[in-house]
Amino acid sequence: MGRITLDKVTKSFGATEVIPPLDLTIEDGEFTVFVGPSGCGKSTLLRLIAGLEDVSSGQIRIDGNDATMVPPAKRGLAMVFQSYALYPHMSVRKNIAFPMRMANMPQEEQDRRIDAAAKALNLTDYLDRKPGQLSGGQRQRVAIGRAIVREPSAFLFDEPLSNLDAALRVGMRMEISELHKKLATTMVYVTHDQVEAMTMADKIVVLRAGHIEQVGSPLDLYRAPRNLFVAGFIGSPK
Ligand code: ADP
Ligand code: MG
Repeated sequence: MGRITLDKVTKSFGATEVIPPLDLTIEDGEFTVFVGPSGCGKSTLLRLIAGLEDVSSGQIRIDGNDATMVPPAKRGLAMVFQSYALYPHMSVRKNIAFPMRMANMPQEEQDRRIDAAAKALNLTDYLDRKPGQLSGGQRQRVAIGRAIVREPSAFLFDEPLSNLDAALRVGMRMEISELHKKLATTMVYVTHDQVEAMTMADKIVVLRAGHIEQVGSPLDLYRAPRNLFVAGFIGSPK
């Protein structure tokens, strides 16, 4: 579960085509990073996958099923927002439980999922605190916890670490990679930071002006960048 396929997907805002026809397959369990300069369409592409934007044309399939017209809440994906999206007046437990309460999930099942998420994220001792009593890294973990309890077939991250200071960012990269190993769930991660892309990805998708310049493992892109744009962006010697 968690294979995402884009088939000739396009997106225009008014007369401006932001994503020209684009084909892409994200394999089940893979950590895929969309990287590219600001304004190249990374967030738009992620929002199309999430269903937060409608495609202008083309098809999105999730685990083989046509998801193009399926509303976001029914796609089985979880978008992780930056840590400031937490509710300040609610405890960590309530923040994590929020999507399950909205879905009227039985309390026992909610508790089971909260415990599992807290364990995976080392938040067990912090469940009764408010977000204001947590460090930036802990707050980011709570935001991820809120995605985990939905047991999604894929996690979608849009520059989740951009609010954190440099030292914290390095730690959170490792934590997210660790979490990916633990959960073995598809993760799609957007960043403009090539170091993040090179250190976290199984597969990197290099975007420029809405189209894909190259797809490959970090090593593929480092050893054989297809052109100067990719070489420059990845920071390889070519
Ligand atoms: P990135 O995340 O790579 O920085 P975005 O996906 O946010 O890029 O934006 C890609 C392009 O689409 C930009 O030129 C941006 O101005 C444009 N764009 C994004 N969202 C909208 C929108 N809702 N309306 C009009 N233009 C948009
Ligand atoms: Mg963006």
